[in-house]
Amino acid sequence: MAVDPSCLFCRIVAGEAPSTRLHDDDLVLAIRDIAPRAPTHILLMPRDHIPSARELTEDDAVLLGRLYAVAAELARREGISEAGYRVVTNVGRYGGQTVHHLHLHLLGGRPFAWPPG
Ligand code: AMP
Ligand code: ZN
Repeated sequence: MAVDPSCLFCRIVAGEAPSTRLHDDDLVLAIRDIAPRAPTHILLMPRDHIPSARELTEDDAVLLGRLYAVAAELARREGISEAGYRVVTNVGRYGGQTVHHLHLHLLGGRPFAWPPG
């Protein structure tokens, strides 16, 4: 399991930095975003330090299945599933990524524009 000691989300996974944990298993951690952009804004991340979706390969199929299954479960728990929601991952500079540890944003509780800004 890769860990980057300078990475905020690795420190959150390790319990060395605070977070509001909503889900924790052998592959995935889900926390509340500290600066929510919607009534529900949850971050789902692998325990493993993968910098972004750019680094994903077919070998990550089980991890990706787990990330999306946990997102669907948390959406049901948050009561946003039926109305619909958005799952996004930002990659690199143009993608708007600020924390370089792969994460999905689960956003819901209001409608979202398309295309995104
Ligand atoms: P991104 O810009 O796609 O890399 O997303 C990073 C997200 O992490 C942003 O939505 C931030 O609000 C969120 N964030 C930054 N620091 C923390 C933290 N300590 N706890 C929870 N969320 C955080
Ligand atoms: Zn990390």
